[in-house]
Amino acid sequence: MKIVVIGGGWAGCAAAIAAAKQGVDVTLLERTDSLLGTGLVGGIFRNNGRYTATEEMVAMGCGEMFDAMDACTTHTNMEFPGHKHASLYSIATIEPEVQRSLAAAGVDVRYQVRIAEVEMDGTRLRAVKTHENKGGIRFEADAFVETTGTSGVVTVCNKYGNACSMCVLRCHTFGTRVGVAARAGVTEISGRKGDQVGAMSGSCKLLKESLAPHIREELNRKGVVIVPIPGAGNGSDHKVSIKACQQYSQPEYTQSIVLLDTGHAKLMTPYFPQAELRRIPGFENARFEDPYSGGIGNSIRFVGMAPRDDALKVDGIDNLFCGGEKAGLLVGHTEAVVTGVLAGYNAARLTLGQALLVLPDSLAIGDAIRHVREQMQTEKGLGLKFTFSGSVYFERMKERGSYTTDIGAIRRRVEAAGLTDVFAARTELDARRVARAA
Ligand SMILES: Cc1cc2nc3c(=O)[nH]c(=O)nc-3n(C[C@H](O)[C@H](O)[C@H](O)COP(=O)(O)OP(=O)(O)OC[C@H]3O[C@@H](n4cnc5c(N)ncnc54)[C@H](O)[C@@H]3O)c2cc1C
Repeated sequence: MKIVVIGGGWAGCAAAIAAAKQGVDVTLLERTDSLLGTGLVGGIFRNNGRYTATEEMVAMGCGEMFDAMDACTTHTNMEFPGHKHASLYSIATIEPEVQRSLAAAGVDVRYQVRIAEVEMDGTRLRAVKTHENKGGIRFEADAFVETTGTSGVVTVCNKYGNACSMCVLRCHTFGTRVGVAARAGVTEISGRKGDQVGAMSGSCKLLKESLAPHIREELNRKGVVIVPIPGAGNGSDHKVSIKACQQYSQPEYTQSIVLLDTGHAKLMTPYFPQAELRRIPGFENARFEDPYSGGIGNSIRFVGMAPRDDALKVDGIDNLFCGGEKAGLLVGHTEAVVTGVLAGYNAARLTLGQALLVLPDSLAIGDAIRHVREQMQTEKGLGLKFTFSGSVYFERMKERGSYTTDIGAIRRRVEAAGLTDVFAARTELDARRVARAA
């Protein structure tokens, strides 16, 4: 029994581990030379309702990706505007840590494999392939998980953003994202709000060394620095209104520079004209590290989502599942991990001839998966983004009483749903698979 996961971001890594723990052979294909995709420039986790979702997943027995994040933290239990009990992981050390987790789970990871074509057998996906001019390498499997994200490709960033901003996705080097569901004939969905198709990624990285020593020192010590922007008004700001992460659409982020320490200085705005930035005291030498053209723009995401059900099976294809941003307008590492786990687990269940799991509404994760699918069927919903960490979905968590940081209460909730350790390894099969891999 064989599963192929396409796309090695947080969702794909989580899917691969979840499937491997069920005892099936898993190959993870990543188009670049590194795992984690946009997670290579993120870092914020366990903030607000993400804490609850993280601990639900730990109680359900698939905490490996959160263990990796926790092992690489630069700061824990910190606060910044609108966010409580956040942790930050170091973007410098997280990727090798995740590589080690995948190796420990016996996942076969292949780098620089960009899937560009599919082979169908009616409504079943038989194989995925690289382009002919890249050797036409073919990967057959019983079930597939697509976790290729929703980043625009260069032409999309040019058309709907401010240009290709040379971001960590490195399309010019490794080729652009290719959606497997679309290749299999599925009509994908794009987020849109008015004329804006997709949304712009919401933060940039500055080289810490380019900041004034007192800012650097405070950032290293506290994990957060807030510097008022001289002359900033209260009005809405285009930079903030087109952000993918709507949880930062509040005045503190338009009137101040908010920096977080993720190894680099994470600047909480999609872009910031370099000349304007350098007029702010302490930022006279500021230099962008990601995206390189962070003075101009950032990547466009949330184009190319797959229609799916609540088991995360893609509509119309019998053996294709999806997770992460591909599964809908859910923004964030935590959101990618929890949907990735369910997609990988259900892909394994399908190959094992078992019923697919749908998580109940009594869990924040189950409710989010269902709520986002329903919202994506409405014009209004397509203009929104959902995250456990803020904006409309965090409000919903608070209204439903599902937000808590009480780990005991979260475990009891998972137990009441009969789902304690549901994703934990099937020991016998897993032992056989690890032995085979060795
Ligand atoms: C600048 C920035 C900062 C962010 N900061 C945070 C943060 O601090 N905290 C937070 O929670 N979230 C943050 N996010 C959002 C978060 O990173 C994403 O929502 C989440 O990580 C998405 O994960 P994913 O696996 O769905 O997709 P992606 O991260 O997009 O990963 C998709 C992967 O698939 C690969 N791929 C694509 N096509 C193919 C193909 N055809 N064949 C093989 N491989 C393919 C890509 O190379 C990539 O590695 C940030 C996003 C950005 C862009």
